[in-house]
Amino acid sequence: MQILGTVEELRQWSRAHRCDRANGAGMALVPTMGALHAGHASLIRAASEARPGRVAVSIFVNPTQFGPNEDFARYPRTFSADCALAEREGASVIFAPSVEEMYPAGAATVVDVEALSDRLDGASRPGHFRGVATVVAKLLIAAEPDLAFFGQKDAAQVAVLRRMVVDLRLDTKIVVCPIVREPDGLALSSRNVYLNAAERKQALVLSRAIDCVQKLVASGERRSVTLIEAARTVFAEQPAVRVDYIELVDWATLWPVLSATQGTLFAVAAWVGATRLIDNTVIG
Ligand code: AMP
Repeated sequence: MQILGTVEELRQWSRAHRCDRANGAGMALVPTMGALHAGHASLIRAASEARPGRVAVSIFVNPTQFGPNEDFARYPRTFSADCALAEREGASVIFAPSVEEMYPAGAATVVDVEALSDRLDGASRPGHFRGVATVVAKLLIAAEPDLAFFGQKDAAQVAVLRRMVVDLRLDTKIVVCPIVREPDGLALSSRNVYLNAAERKQALVLSRAIDCVQKLVASGERRSVTLIEAARTVFAEQPAVRVDYIELVDWATLWPVLSATQGTLFAVAAWVGATRLIDNTVIG
């Protein structure tokens, strides 16, 4: 498996490997920030099933999506293990650029998906989705994949990127893979390593809230106020965890809805100690 460090190398590799794009022989891109776990593995596996031998995995801890007081400096970096995992799951190439490569000196161009970027995680992390959209746009423009794989785990990110791909007329299909969880329900996240033993237990309140809402919906409940209140009650059982948001929204606009219908997104974010975690479910 090759490791590429420059945008030009990625562009060349991609051009050489997406032989007949129009006939399903394009290439797949799996953007990540590294510290790969079974959630990322599921994306790489899905990509290599769809585009065997033509999967690029990018590993880049993108500084522009971190706020000034966030964890950019201490974000887990496990490059050798990441390469081994990516290769095992069928990646053909790793793209691991430097910050200077992605943001050349004097870089002044950003991609701002208006309105959506201020919702959910964007409301509590100003500038986060601008950083995400900017770096993913750079990756999609360089690699021109016909498929790009993302996790439902970051559902608001998916909404922002779907909008961006349509607006910029990029010729890439966004493929969304299900949330991979620990056996006890906790959604896998590179940030779970920050949790101490007590916080690891407290963190289960997120998936319990999701579970509770899924059961209510299955029993016929659809009203937003009732579903949000039920989730709030679950969170109240774990007062050490501080809720950031509990929202029922249209997955395309991220705008709140009054009742759940097919495809509506129920999403939560909460602080467990100093670690902010997210979880969600899509109704239907
Ligand atoms: P990250 O490295 O955190 O930027 O994540 C890279 C990609 O992996 C994103 O599309 C995430 O949504 C996806 N991802 C992260 N955690 C999970 C998970 N538990 N299940 C499925 N996909 C995930």
